[in-house]
Amino acid sequence: MITRQFGIPVTSPGAILRREKDLGTPLGEEIAEVLERGGLVSDKIIVELIEDWLRLHGGHGFVFDGFPRTLPQAESLMSILARLRTALDLALWLEVSQQTVFERIAGRLQCGECGFTTSASSAQFAERPVCPYCDGRLMRRSDDDLAVLQTRLSEFETKTQPLASFYAKISVLHRIDGNRDREAVFADISRLIEDKARA
Ligand SMILES: [Zn+2]
Repeated sequence: MITRQFGIPVTSPGAILRREKDLGTPLGEEIAEVLERGGLVSDKIIVELIEDWLRLHGGHGFVFDGFPRTLPQAESLMSILARLRTALDLALWLEVSQQTVFERIAGRLQCGECGFTTSASSAQFAERPVCPYCDGRLMRRSDDDLAVLQTRLSEFETKTQPLASFYAKISVLHRIDGNRDREAVFADISRLIEDKARA
């Protein structure tokens, strides 16, 4: 939605890793191997790929979705941006209650082939659970059982939560109530981006 409205490219570590994997580069093969084992790709690799992506696509603004997730990643991003002489304008903190997280994940479908994710309540996909990008089958995410979710939530508390004060300290943090519907959340985000563009 941000790309459509503002022409700003958006990416996420997941998208960048999938792309590298699909390209079949030596690094891509290494990533595929780690992911097949169910492991986590190291911060070092993610940060390197983020820097490459920024050099290619970040010239006229950019949005990262789900990055950084840890303080070391946030610090690496600051040094990358310093090297590229680029300012960080906004850090958007979408605050979502545990109940909302559980509800949304329970209602999510994911493509087994390409990772495309959508809501199970979307009529289009409820009727015909086929991926619009690759015709793969849309399924409930297999890793979304309660135990995994609990682990992720506690990881969020210990690793990601500290980013709020990190970004508050450099005055770029904006908290947004993410428990509302998409339109209301997007309206808030749009207003912040427009204010920045005018500044
Ligand atoms: Zn797909």
